[in-house]
Amino acid sequence: MIPYGRQIISEDDISAVEAVLRSVCLTQGPIVPRFEEAVASRVGAHHAVAVNSATSALHIACLALGLGPNDLLWTSPITFVASANCARYCGAEVDFVDIHPDTFNICPNALEAKLSAAARVGRLPKVIVAVHMCGQSPDMARIANLARTHGVRIIEDASHAIGADYLGEPVGNCRYSDITVFSFHPVKIITTAEGGMALTNDAGLAGRMERLRSHGITRDPALMTHAPDGPWYYQQLELGWNYRMTEMQAALGLSQMDRLDAFITRRRALADAYDAALADLALRRPGRQHEANSSWHLYVIRLDDAARHRSVFEALRAAGIGVNLHYIPVHLQPYYRAMSFAPGDFPASEDYYARAISIPLHAGLTDDEQGQVVTAISEALA
Ligand SMILES: *Cc1c(COP(=O)(O)O)cnc(C)c1O
Repeated sequence: MIPYGRQIISEDDISAVEAVLRSVCLTQGPIVPRFEEAVASRVGAHHAVAVNSATSALHIACLALGLGPNDLLWTSPITFVASANCARYCGAEVDFVDIHPDTFNICPNALEAKLSAAARVGRLPKVIVAVHMCGQSPDMARIANLARTHGVRIIEDASHAIGADYLGEPVGNCRYSDITVFSFHPVKIITTAEGGMALTNDAGLAGRMERLRSHGITRDPALMTHAPDGPWYYQQLELGWNYRMTEMQAALGLSQMDRLDAFITRRRALADAYDAALADLALRRPGRQHEANSSWHLYVIRLDDAARHRSVFEALRAAGIGVNLHYIPVHLQPYYRAMSFAPGDFPASEDYYARAISIPLHAGLTDDEQGQVVTAISEALA
């Protein structure tokens, strides 16, 4: 089976992890800060907080922005459930804004209309999670402008998008958001096995997220309620979690960062080749926004004939092509339907779901394998 995505581990990656295992510190040592510094400087953010998953990063990002019970978070339905669940961890409510059918990202026009309506009834969200679906940035300048008008905070869920650019600058620099989150799950662009990171330019948000990833504890005397009792002293200032990344994970991530640009270059070449090879088939290729240069985490085709969706998907799997579907609209999950979301609520997302297939795309995919994928798609559609 040719997988839709997978990690690429080099001998250097293995040596880096092994060196940590032979060292004194397996956790809370020097490598996590070095990995944070490497990612922050690559994407142009002032602060980075490494954690054990992007889901944890989304959780502490929401907490740092003050999201709590009775608050509201909005995201788009075509995403992994974590983009919405982060609100539920904080006791907040979730609502959705439909996608734009070309980009699969939150539709700025729908967002503008929904924000105006929400402002009129006094039920604005506290936070919008803007997802970089497949690695392509949403229209962040417009989204930031709309959010600022209404006093809404923004988290970019860029789990797919480390290495991508928007308006000529790296995704993750937080020019249009309060916090940006990356995932390092093995199918994503670079990996730490499990892992994630929150980037921000706000020192206060960074400090709060650092505390929240480690039990709400500080060792900084300036933050304590009274002078330290002694050199052993720490204080728990609020309720936090253990969301720390290990030194082995950070060593793997730091080593993978050396190949980020090469991974992105290969993914972009494969995406261009798919665009050319699939041009004449009965499907729509992913829409490209000229201001966004995608990291191409996913290449999603949409079938012209939705009635053949399942049979084409099954034929591709039978042909050894590890296709997948990203994502089932979050509002249709039983957990969210129980909050009264229902089919028909977000038509563009549901139409996407009726046609979408993620085809193999990763930096280790060979030209020959890509040829097999294209042949299998042509045959399945014939
Ligand atoms: C993978 C992913 C997450 C969660 O990442 P983890 O690191 O597995 O917690 C969140 N949002 C999106 C859009 C993702 O693709």
